[in-house]
Amino acid sequence: MKKAIVCGAGGFIGSHLVKKLKKEGFWVKGIDLKYPEFGTTEADEFVIGDLRDIDVCKNVINEAVDELYQLAGEVGGAGYVFTGENDAEIMHNSALINLNIVDLASKIGVKKLFYSSSACIYPQFNQEDPENPNCAESTAYPAFPDSEYGWEKLFSERIYQTYARTYSIKMKIARFHNIFGEEGTYTGGREKAPAALCRKIAETNDGGTIDIWGDGKQTRSFLYIDECLEGVRKLMDSGFDGPVNIGSEEMVSIDELAYKIANIAGKKILINHIDGPMGVRGRNSDNTLINKELSWKPSKSLEYGLKKTYFWINKMVNSNE
Ligand code: NAD
Repeated sequence: MKKAIVCGAGGFIGSHLVKKLKKEGFWVKGIDLKYPEFGTTEADEFVIGDLRDIDVCKNVINEAVDELYQLAGEVGGAGYVFTGENDAEIMHNSALINLNIVDLASKIGVKKLFYSSSACIYPQFNQEDPENPNCAESTAYPAFPDSEYGWEKLFSERIYQTYARTYSIKMKIARFHNIFGEEGTYTGGREKAPAALCRKIAETNDGGTIDIWGDGKQTRSFLYIDECLEGVRKLMDSGFDGPVNIGSEEMVSIDELAYKIANIAGKKILINHIDGPMGVRGRNSDNTLINKELSWKPSKSLEYGLKKTYFWINKMVNSNE
């Protein structure tokens, strides 16, 4: 039986990944500061611990497992990443986690390591036109990410690549583009646009008004969790290491995203644009490389994932009343 360790197994992507690995027959050990917020973990062993602490890491990453997935870190949407208030924690905590994990996993002889990087590493100057952002993998340098979160991700990509050159460990790096779905954070300040909009619309009456940060013309693409994990597993099983985008090319403006969700909810909404943190004007996944190397692209529309996510958030919001 293949063995895997999932760091960040209590988080959104990590908890879904544990389920997928179990379905595929892996023995799985998870580690996180917390258990999954919205369900029970399916990991065979789950350690509550702080990956900034090297002694905790030594206790968990203590055998040469087949695969280690590194998804732990300081994560949040625009309200968390672009205000500047959390930058020191983001840089310090995530870098420390990555430094600990890469060093231990490489020296102990873990065979393959997956690192979850982000679309936030791409330079601001290629994402100023909302209709034509350029996020091809080859454009990452010269680097100019729009947030300290992006700089830490780029720094960590380089650490993993450096260790891959020095030790005989395969490093797989994916740059995720806005992953969303059920059992993801939808309130509390760290939620991202799809979950935040689903919550606002779930809380609004038909004909109501919701606030959107900025002019609503900023563009993004969003990838449903199941599709993301399919891409991750394909990357792990391939001879290709990345860094590679895992995202959708179905780009929409934030206003369009809100109207799509309202349509799913069967509600008419009005949008009130207010000042708020926004990030770059446009961002879209470029899937040329992943298509070529892994023959992978998302198989479902944005609407498919939004339906699943909206009805889950609607149930959570309205059962909490
Ligand atoms: P998440 O916040 O749900 O999961 C991260 C997990 O890391 C959390 O459960 C958190 O408790 C854990 N963690 C944080 N600090 C820790 C510590 N010191 N010790 C142990 N655990 C700790 O976020 P997610 O959306 O599941 O993202 C997973 C990874 O994918 C992250 O590295 C994130 O940067 C990356 N990513 C996510 C997206 C996205 O759209 N969700 C986009 C790009 C990149």
